[in-house]
Amino acid sequence: MGLIRSKRNSYEHHKTTFHVSGGARRGGPHSRSRRQGTAQGDRVDGRHGIPGAGYQDSHFVEPKPSFIAKVHGADLLISVGLQLEIGWLPPLITQSRNPRVQPGAPGYLEGSQFAEILEKPAGGVSRSMGDIHPLGNPHFWLDPNNGRAVAQGIANKLSEVRPEDAAYFAQRYKDFAARLAVAEKGWDQKMAPFRGRKVVTFHQSWPNFAKRFGIEVAGYVEPKPGIPPTPSHTLALIGQMKSQNIRVIWVEPYFDTKVPNSIANSVGGEAIVLLPSVGGVPEVTDYFKLFDYDVKLAAGAFERMEKHGT
Ligand SMILES: [Zn+2]
Repeated sequence: MGLIRSKRNSYEHHKTTFHVSGGARRGGPHSRSRRQGTAQGDRVDGRHGIPGAGYQDSHFVEPKPSFIAKVHGADLLISVGLQLEIGWLPPLITQSRNPRVQPGAPGYLEGSQFAEILEKPAGGVSRSMGDIHPLGNPHFWLDPNNGRAVAQGIANKLSEVRPEDAAYFAQRYKDFAARLAVAEKGWDQKMAPFRGRKVVTFHQSWPNFAKRFGIEVAGYVEPKPGIPPTPSHTLALIGQMKSQNIRVIWVEPYFDTKVPNSIANSVGGEAIVLLPSVGGVPEVTDYFKLFDYDVKLAAGAFERMEKHGT
């Protein structure tokens, strides 16, 4: 998620401040926008971003008092949506007392509306059941198609906020989409040999990523999204992995690797830490590097399993 601020004097200088905030934002397509200038480029200032990084769980960002001031000054706030940030963002918006970015106002934008959303629940789901994905899976930016769609949505919104720069934002989006088209060919090629493989993941962060590359997520280390592993669930999972010959576990960087490592040992496999977001490691500074990193690791693990006779 992110924020865009254009102070009056910034407007005069044709510059809008773009804030990206929390773990979610670094993970979100917005980080790509910010780093790569998808839509904003040099007419949007990202210096006032709300701290946070991809090594943090975007469900549970710890809001700092300084965030309120940043939201207070924003002209546009971009959230991931689907309640990903429900634990920390709504109070921040309320406390900012900034009418421009309240939900429903023109300066509030949820990226999820532009994306293909997976795992939409059929019936009613309660968060008290431990489901922190009550409206469908909010980790949608891990498919470049969704990144592209959200980037376009952001570019359009920026043009609304700054109509005089509409052509500029449209051009920035076009550049981004062109670079993405080239990059994703490489990612698809690297993952192509592993289509149809099954993996287990810690949290349900990867349905879009998996779908994109033809990987099947067969189980989770968490019994339910947001619920820590339990011995009985872990035991059942090991049984399932053995029977289905699943030996790779994808783990998000903010979870303890003890349980996934021990599961991997039990099945003769490997737990690897993939990044759900930009900033998860220092060298992953934009949306493109995020996929470069994850694709390389994921393909590498499948290759090693193959050598060991999967
Ligand atoms: Zn989640």
